[in-house]
Amino acid sequence: MLILVVNAGSSSLKYQLIDMDGEKVLAKGNCDRIGIDGHISHKAADGRKLDMDCDFPTHTEAFEKLVEALTKSDAAVIKDMSEISAVGHRIVQGAEVFSETTLVTDEVIEKIDGLAELAPVHNHAHALALRACKKVFSADVPQAVVFDTAFHQTMPPEAFMFGIPYEDYEKYHVRKYGFHGTSHRFVSAALAKAMGRDAKDLKLVSCHLGNGSSITAVKGGKSIDTSMGFTPLDGVIMGTRSGCIDASAVTFLQKKLGLDADQMSEYLNKKSGFLGVSGISSDNREIYAAIYEGDKKAKLTADMLVYEIKKYIGSYAAIMDGLDAVLFTGGIGENSWEVREGVCENMDFYGIRIDKELNKSIKGELKKISTPDSKIEVWVVPTNEELLIARDTLALISK
Ligand code: ADP
Repeated sequence: MLILVVNAGSSSLKYQLIDMDGEKVLAKGNCDRIGIDGHISHKAADGRKLDMDCDFPTHTEAFEKLVEALTKSDAAVIKDMSEISAVGHRIVQGAEVFSETTLVTDEVIEKIDGLAELAPVHNHAHALALRACKKVFSADVPQAVVFDTAFHQTMPPEAFMFGIPYEDYEKYHVRKYGFHGTSHRFVSAALAKAMGRDAKDLKLVSCHLGNGSSITAVKGGKSIDTSMGFTPLDGVIMGTRSGCIDASAVTFLQKKLGLDADQMSEYLNKKSGFLGVSGISSDNREIYAAIYEGDKKAKLTADMLVYEIKKYIGSYAAIMDGLDAVLFTGGIGENSWEVREGVCENMDFYGIRIDKELNKSIKGELKKISTPDSKIEVWVVPTNEELLIARDTLALISK
């Protein structure tokens, strides 16, 4: 059975066609620059490629083009779109409305669009893509929506509330939602399996470290706290996002720099983080390249990330009353031995010890990197959000 997984933004539409018999990716690609001019880059699993400029006034034309790429191009992998059994969409914000993967109806699309105020960059674009997908695919092709926030809906109120007047939480839905839920759910389940344990018996800290990073406390298979907040800005320092910052520093800087609210948001989301502190790059590889050249601000940037992750591990061990394993995932977590080593160094109090040589050799593979005498296991677990979206979609349509 073939499932198309879609990750739509306001100007892009990334996709993967997955054969669920064997969970193999048949093709993947991106329709980019929607509403600007348009470009598709598409790659079949056997290496055949399609790369061309085309016109995408809206998401509808992008869907039409991806169907053409999958069925008729030189890099086609299927004969007809009727071979696609269902479509699974990644949605950023489900707020308190959606706590699990849901089948798409007109009402569901309206609700997703209605949450746009809580995710200005994403949810309206998702709604546009959902409507476009319904137009292009036949009505009997089921579509499912998988929410980044859903996994974190199990957080208790003491974890998700901010210390603001309660009526503003009720009126404006301002609270911690958490993101990367699909990834944290995938990797925490994969780790339980790799450890040969039942997820229900485990206390884990899941560190998803990429351009955006979040740390989650997973107890008994459920998220009980996470570092990202109302938006994906909160938590640890990220590529261009500040991470946690005293709100008074924000209003102070806004006045000093003469910025309006949108400009201040851009400052914190796009100009801060690794890029802002190092003045070099938002990319972890370039930060470490600069460290090896002796750059002090790059070193400070890397130290800040490591320090903040350590604090989350300690505090999450405290709220879970124990810790069985820490896992690293995402572009940095899977590939940067330096970040993993930095986080795990001097954690003897917690009983964390890693095999430094082994850690250095691990890139993007499922592997335990802690030593046999480490009380807490440490693992690298590659994430695969698209696969989880496809699995969820399959499970839902099979019901
Ligand atoms: P996103 O959050 O956009 O999905 P990724 O998970 O792909 O991002 O992570 C991107 C980050 O991963 C970048 O900071 C990049 O430098 C880092 N990264 C990717 N590959 C490596 C590598 N081989 N070594 C160190 N860092 C890496």
